[in-house]
Amino acid sequence: NSFAEIDLGVALNQNIQRCKYVKPTPVQRYAIPISLAGRDLMACAQTGSGKTAAFCFPIISGIMREQYAQRPRVARTAYPLALILSPTRELSCQIHDEAKKFSYQTGVKVVVAYGGAPITQQLRELERGVDILVATPGRLVDLLERARLSLQMIRYLALDEADRMLDMGFEPQIRKIVEQMDMPPPGMRQTLLFSATFPKEIQALASDFLSRYVFLAV
Ligand code: AMP
Repeated sequence: NSFAEIDLGVALNQNIQRCKYVKPTPVQRYAIPISLAGRDLMACAQTGSGKTAAFCFPIISGIMREQYAQRPRVARTAYPLALILSPTRELSCQIHDEAKKFSYQTGVKVVVAYGGAPITQQLRELERGVDILVATPGRLVDLLERARLSLQMIRYLALDEADRMLDMGFEPQIRKIVEQMDMPPPGMRQTLLFSATFPKEIQALASDFLSRYVFLAV
């Protein structure tokens, strides 16, 4: 019933205290242990439920715990370990801001990329190194087509507001992105899908992208 009881790592626990989060919200209470156990997750959660932390904490904690020194070194190509997809620039920036606070002094680097802004600065940012990439689907496809980004090392994929992404017509882009991630051996990628609603289109995404997933409704 408190974050101190969850083993997220010292640095992350300190950042949680700094954010003045004392008690996990209901979605956090269930989603975080499930994710830390390595399970795929489909969670029905509304805005304001604390879902951002629910998927950021396990991702940051997982990246801190594991050794990823084996990332390829290809000039001008970024190899993030985690990808968080969200429907809009505003939401992506919000997630980026929160994820940066949570990863303060953890060594985990968070970068954001969204459409409607010059791509060159985002490319430069990616080139400096990235562990967690927060992006909108359209801009992500753009980055992939420029061959400046590889999803080959992605170990964590979070889809935030998946129903809204589908409403906005991003399904082809999302499918294209996930196809590029099927490089790691099966079971290497952990997928966390968050959606306010659970219509049959979202169920289809869940059964295509997730494996033996836990369904959570709070
Ligand atoms: P979200 O649903 O992720 O957009 O979060 C809604 C708001 O709740 C954000 O302003 C968060 O910073 C805040 N928040 C998330 N989790 C907690 C928590 N466990 N305790 C206090 N505030 C929180």
